[in-house]
Amino acid sequence: MLDFNICNKARLERDASFDGKFFTAVKTTKIYCRPVCPVRQPLTKNISFYETAPAAEQAGYRPCLRCRPETVPFCPAWNGTKTTVERALKMIEQGALDNGSVENLADRLGIGPRHLSRLFNKHIGASPTQTAKTMRIRKAKQLLNTTQLSMAKIAEQSGFKSVRGFNKVFKNLYGRAPSQVKRLNPQRCAELAGGQQ
Ligand SMILES: [Zn+2]
Repeated sequence: MLDFNICNKARLERDASFDGKFFTAVKTTKIYCRPVCPVRQPLTKNISFYETAPAAEQAGYRPCLRCRPETVPFCPAWNGTKTTVERALKMIEQGALDNGSVENLADRLGIGPRHLSRLFNKHIGASPTQTAKTMRIRKAKQLLNTTQLSMAKIAEQSGFKSVRGFNKVFKNLYGRAPSQVKRLNPQRCAELAGGQQ
């Protein structure tokens, strides 16, 4: 469980030791950030905290274009048993939910699908499906930022079934097409992100 006051202090101080341990979601802009985000800080009354990126996205928040929360290693704060969730995350990263079902994944882990969903809710704060979606987008965003691959290749390599599906999911999340995000230079990103309060 995240402690609001500890998180709030950490994000106000931009404490790097908390990077990846929680994300700050801004209710007024529907954007979520890392604690180290350089953008002007939102008012305390407008924020809430999430332990993981999928949890923030499941609650309807978009990743900040400035601090790029998708670049933070996927490391939810664990409490209690974790190995099953860790194995599940590895399988999802390898594409287990790109073609297969949650039932299938649960089967491979030797547990029931409902138990798997419960574990994900407890440790990730989001469903396995949402987690897979966040991972796909994260991979796509990294490829967009670091390679010159075509949209079709990026879609394929990040586990999307089609470029159309890739565009749709991306647009839902970022409010703009992948090609538009690719064209954004850091200065432009800063301007866009600067609009948040
Ligand atoms: Zn940010």
